[in-house]
Amino acid sequence: MIPAQFNYEAPGTIDEALSLLAANPDDAKILAGGHSLIPAMKLRLAQPAVLVDIGRIKDLSYIRKDGDQIRIGAMTTHYQLESSTLLRKICPLLPECAAQIGDVQVRNKGTIGGSVAHSDPAGDWPAAIIALGAEMVAVGRDGERLIKADDFFIDLLTTALSAGEILREIRITKPAGRFGHAYQKVRHPASGFAVVGVAVALQIGSNGACESAAVGVTGVASKAYRAGAVERALQGKQLNDQAIAAAAAHATDGVDANSDLYASEDYRRHLAQVYTRRAIQAAAARAQ
Ligand SMILES: Cc1cc2nc3c(=O)[nH]c(=O)nc-3n(C[C@H](O)[C@H](O)[C@H](O)COP(=O)(O)OP(=O)(O)OC[C@H]3O[C@@H](n4cnc5c(N)ncnc54)[C@H](O)[C@@H]3O)c2cc1C
Repeated sequence: MIPAQFNYEAPGTIDEALSLLAANPDDAKILAGGHSLIPAMKLRLAQPAVLVDIGRIKDLSYIRKDGDQIRIGAMTTHYQLESSTLLRKICPLLPECAAQIGDVQVRNKGTIGGSVAHSDPAGDWPAAIIALGAEMVAVGRDGERLIKADDFFIDLLTTALSAGEILREIRITKPAGRFGHAYQKVRHPASGFAVVGVAVALQIGSNGACESAAVGVTGVASKAYRAGAVERALQGKQLNDQAIAAAAAHATDGVDANSDLYASEDYRRHLAQVYTRRAIQAAAARAQ
């Protein structure tokens, strides 16, 4: 439970952080809240020679409305998102998801950027990020690039970020019109991580039917994924119990589901269907 030896750097600017990463291309790691990285280092699953702590860089922790966009700095903590009155009004999926992460200590230190960059298959944020169609702003020595949520989560603990890039900001288009959000999760009893977590964002048309649905699922597979078959089954439908249950039955279509000591593959698939149904029902009720 003692990490291997490492050097600690605390740059004051993004440019300094990028230089440190470039100078140590194979063995530097970014440190954000440390609530995934430090446990991995203690178990020696990660053994970086240099830790680049981005916690002292100014202006990486914020929640801003900018026109029709919501901008969230990568170092914004789960608690800041959970307690944001602005987000409760304009994008309630974010505080609802944040409130279900771990415990209060984890939420006080852990960051949305760290969680998204880590791509833990049982992490909560990736489901919400997918359902909201977020864009990730990555900054490297060659400048900035935008990565869409659908292209961001590549596999277990693997994202589209390149070595030496820093996730700087997460951008979400502010939901408009008649919409409903929900995040429903089965918590692992020890860690709180998602055995299954389902984030739903619905857009309802003037005739009361589902105009569009976005469904992100975490905990089930090696990475969070978009449940496209569920989304297609909801589109254009009046959201009664029958239509919702029929759509939710597709929650794991085409997905290799995980199996572990806590939940077998079949049980996980079953939970995914049940919690997809519940999340759609909750989102539909809120869109009334
Ligand atoms: C007891 C416990 C319970 C938990 N329960 C839950 C839970 O229920 N749900 C859940 O989702 N999570 C849970 N977590 C994980 C927690 O949410 C972490 O905070 C989160 O996964 C990682 O965020 P962090 O800021 O701590 O990142 P760190 O641990 O500092 O970093 C994680 C990884 O991301 C990289 N990284 C960090 N920031 C950036 C960036 N800006 N750009 C590029 N790379 C970056 C790091 O190099 C590292 O590889 C739990 C953790 C603990 C210890």
